[in-house]
Amino acid sequence: MPELPEVETTRRGIEPHVLGRTVVTLEVHEPRLRWRVPEGLAAQIAGQRVERASRRAKYLLLELTHGTLLWHLGMSGSLRVLRAGTPRGLHDHVDLILDSGFLLRFNDPRRFGSLHYTTEDPSGHPLLARLAPEPFDSQFDADYLWRITRRRRVAIKALLMNSRLVVGVGNIYANEALFRARVRPRRAASSLTRLEAQRLARAIRAVLTVAIRAGGTTLRDYVGADGNPGYFRQKLYVYERDGEPCRLCRTPVRAITQGQRSSYYCPACQK
Ligand SMILES: [Zn+2]
Repeated sequence: MPELPEVETTRRGIEPHVLGRTVVTLEVHEPRLRWRVPEGLAAQIAGQRVERASRRAKYLLLELTHGTLLWHLGMSGSLRVLRAGTPRGLHDHVDLILDSGFLLRFNDPRRFGSLHYTTEDPSGHPLLARLAPEPFDSQFDADYLWRITRRRRVAIKALLMNSRLVVGVGNIYANEALFRARVRPRRAASSLTRLEAQRLARAIRAVLTVAIRAGGTTLRDYVGADGNPGYFRQKLYVYERDGEPCRLCRTPVRAITQGQRSSYYCPACQK
């Protein structure tokens, strides 16, 4: 599933190809995504210029002259920049045709992705309005993490993956951040010390930064905007490394199941 780094990598990949370009049309070959692509959308956006390509949580925002496209990659979606006229393949559902001779193609085998358009301030859109802070927001710091962990007995890893408290920390990055912060995934959130909360806030940002620089993590069906797989996988410390030696202390990495997701940790490095 594309997580925050993959979406940010996609944003960076497509940005130079879409900025300042005018939308010729939108070809919707399969409108039945997670939500139906609104009818008449092509007519609404044709002729508008792409002013900005931004991201909020896992939504890509293409800000046009008079409105904003909100694109979500869902479980298996990808956006790629291709030459106009490139034949469509299986699961290629939407093409945004630009005046540059290129198009932005949305492929999504499982169709959990979505495409919305709003002429209002996108931050007030129902899909975005109630999202928690991003790990890179100034609000998200040691204090914030400290506050949200108080009186919460839920496991710290589950808390990190709760998008009502923080967005964009999926399973891979929660495991990796906890390793870097030297905290075991099953620890009760409220048991974190002030110092651990500080280490963890830093670790989350560090892990996501490294992943974005590496172009995301390649897992099954994720492909970056230019079709290249991400290279973060080679930098993982614990994720899917059960039984393999810890990269720091050589102790075998352990795997456990938490809330139907796998967690990985080093029993020596993490307390
Ligand atoms: Zn270790």
